[in-house]
Amino acid sequence: MGADNWTYCLRCVYRADKTQELMRQQVRDSYGEIPVDQFEIARAAAAIDHELMDNETLYTFREDWDQGVETDGTVFVNYSGRCSECNWGIDFEHTEVLPFEE
Ligand SMILES: [Zn+2]
Repeated sequence: MGADNWTYCLRCVYRADKTQELMRQQVRDSYGEIPVDQFEIARAAAAIDHELMDNETLYTFREDWDQGVETDGTVFVNYSGRCSECNWGIDFEHTEVLPFEE
């Protein structure tokens, strides 16, 4: 295919966001249950906002695409996108013959 791009994987970002929210909930649940110094450390770790959409470590979704027209009038559009971490993705191929009129 003729082009490629790396971007974030919606599925991995969703999962990372859920994991971070679970950490925050665990910290909230531990309030008053653990020593103050441990609570402060846990709260600081859970409070880190990773700006998930801008975090290039989550750019695990590779896109490849190609499109054009053949000499016989066949128009083609091919797209492949897949995450290297969770394997979420799609392959898409479409061809159509462009009617030719004199
Ligand atoms: Zn993924």
